[in-house]
Order: sequence, then structure tokens, then C-alpha cells
Amino acid sequence: MTTVAAYAAPAAKAPLERTTIERREVREHDVLIDIKFAGICHSDIHQAREGWGEAIFPMVPGHEIAGVVTEVGPGVTRFAVGDRVGVGCMVDSCRECEYCKAGLEQYCTEGNIGTYNAVGRDGEVTYGGYSQKVVVDENFVLGIPEGISLDEAAPLLCAGITTYSPLRRWNAGPGKKVAVVGLGGLGHMAVKLAHALGAEVTVLSQSLRKKDDGLKLGADHYYATSDPATFQELAGSFDLIVSTVSAPLDFAAYLGLLRPHGTLANVGAPEEPIALNLFALLGGGKSLAGSMIGGIAETQEMLDFCAAHGIGAEIELIAASEVNEAYERVLASDVRYRFVIDTATI
Ligand code: NAP
Ligand code: ZN
Ligand code: ZN
Repeated sequence: MTTVAAYAAPAAKAPLERTTIERREVREHDVLIDIKFAGICHSDIHQAREGWGEAIFPMVPGHEIAGVVTEVGPGVTRFAVGDRVGVGCMVDSCRECEYCKAGLEQYCTEGNIGTYNAVGRDGEVTYGGYSQKVVVDENFVLGIPEGISLDEAAPLLCAGITTYSPLRRWNAGPGKKVAVVGLGGLGHMAVKLAHALGAEVTVLSQSLRKKDDGLKLGADHYYATSDPATFQELAGSFDLIVSTVSAPLDFAAYLGLLRPHGTLANVGAPEEPIALNLFALLGGGKSLAGSMIGGIAETQEMLDFCAAHGIGAEIELIAASEVNEAYERVLASDVRYRFVIDTATI
């Protein structure tokens, strides 16, 4: 075991504080990663505050990890010391079920093993990226291509893949009108990726506060959802809407913005259920769908796509001691557009 510095929530809703955790010795197929940067995902906040239900404490959040390999186990074939690598939301799965074999490890029938707030197949609690080192099986480690800096790459490991996967699945591309609801961590990546895929992109944000940024990120149009006229003007316009909103939303209103046979793909994970009048789906034969992160192969595909298109996240780099303040700013929709912890400051 190796003792490493980390930032942890000692209990639900308690502020995060500096602590130490134990990392396992490197096993046959493991990679030891010196973590350089860790993104702050809204999911970290949902979990650290038990918004999704009972969680495991102390909790070291962080599933947007970028760093450098410092040791490899004897059976490792895909990585070498010095490689620039990332780890996302999963660190293991059964590897044998239909979905694992199809590269959809996130939908493993046994359940994927979360990077933190989970119990590994060895019975040990997992701890995430707000720490200085992590040991991960090489099959759940991604290569970060040259050309993306590690700090701007970290958020791709969750925000990037979570938006890339539905954009690809529902064919965002030339000739397609795509709307992105919520311009936060996931939303700003959705705008960049949908634009790079060739779609016509509209941002639907609560206000016009971030309009200039949205257009610079690649949006063609920008509307405020606080203005009821938006819903009249855009009725029946989009092939695909990707909702990244962290709070319950009036989905019926957004379904009204889809063309017939259009899809509203939701990736937001609000803490409360929503009510929906199903007539909103019937007229126009519309689909309401969900999507959770992406498989390992698709995550590598996304990273390579980002490198080819010069895409990284827009980040605010912070010291670990600023994490609690950063959480409050995320909750206030005041993030531009992803907080990333410089783990050297832990
Ligand atoms: P974030 O940075 O906080 O962005 C969420 C955005 O939603 C905000 O910036 C805001 O955008 C909008 N929003 C917030 N509250 C709202 C409200 N009450 N009404 C309307 N819009 C609101 O969060 P994130 O890290 O992108 O994560 C977004 C959600 O996705 C979270 O629930 C997270 O847990 C979930 N998530 C899911 C997956 C998955 O696999 N499906 C993966 C990662 C995260 P505007 O200011 O532009 O309105
Ligand atoms: Zn996340
Ligand atoms: Zn499986």
C-alpha cells in the first residue's frame, strides 16, 4: 500500500478537506498514475451531498483524471512509464457480459465499478481523482493524445464522452439541427463537439448571460429559456436536443421543440423525478432517451476526435483548497466552464 494525499468529503454535506488515503500495490495488469489534474463534475456534488441516495464516506470524488504513468505491472501491454493517460467514471466491470463484450462497459449487467463511491471487485472502496496518485487496471485507462494539454483533457473523461456518445448515437452531423440545453461543464463540451461534427448548434440557456461565450464555442444560435417566446419561435425545429441540466426540467416544453421523429437525449441526472404528460411524445412520434457516459473504446475515439479537431475543455484551474467554493459556484450555474483541480496543490 502507498499513502497519498487526497481531498475528501468526511460525511454527507460536509465540506471537503485534505486527508490521506491508501492506494493498492500495482498488480499484474495495473498502471500507477501520477495524477496531474482532476475535473469537478456536477456528479461529484450530487454524490458528496448524497443527492442520489446513500453514499460511501469518506469520499474522494473525481472521475475526470489526467496524469502520467509512473509504474506498470508485469502484464501491462497498452501503456508504458511516461505515457499521458486519463481515467473516467469507471475502473472495472465484469468484462464477460454481452455489454462489456460490445464495448458498453458502462451498461455491464453486473454494474460497472465507479471510480469513486463504489466497492471494487476486490471488496475495496474506490477513491477518485482529487488525489495525487491512482492505481487502475490498464483496460480502464485511456491514452491522452499529444496536442491536448492535460488540464484541458481532464474534463473530456466525463463531460466529453457523456456528450460525444449521444451526439454520435443520434447522428449529429451536417444537415442536422442540434440544441444543447444548459451551458455548463457537459453543455459547453456538447456545443464544441456538435459543432465539430458539422451540426447546426443552438444553445438553450436560462439567460443570455453567456451568449458571447456560447457563440465562440461554436454555437450558431443562442436563446434564453426564461423567455416564453423562445418556445414559440423554436417549436418543431430540432432533430436532436441534448439536455445536460442538473435539475428537474419541464421536458414537455422541450419536446415541443423537436421535429417529428426527433429525439430528446437526456444526460442530466437530477436528484428528483419529473412528471411528464406522455402526449408530448405522441404527436410527432418523438423519443425521450437517456445516455450514460460511454464505453472505453468510444472514450478513446472521443479523445482522438478532440485531438484531431483541436478540442479541449474551457477550464478554470483551481487549487485543491478552493474546491468547496468551486462546488458552490457550480450549484449557482457560475462555472466557465469546468473547474479543474491542480493536484500538486493537495
Ligand atoms: P453543470 O456544469 O452544473 O451544468 C449544468 C447546467 O444546467 C448549468 O450550467 C445551467 O446552464 C443548467 N441548469 C442548472 N440548473 C438549472 C435549472 N434549475 N433549470 C434550468 N437549467 C439549469 O453540471 P455538469 O457537470 O455539466 O452536469 C450536468 C448534469 O449531468 C448533472 O446532473 C450531472 O450529474 C449529470 N451527468 C450525467 C452523466 C451521464 O453519464 N449521464 C455524466 C456526467 C454528468 P445555464 O446556466 O446555461 O442555464
Ligand atoms: Zn461526471
Ligand atoms: Zn459486464
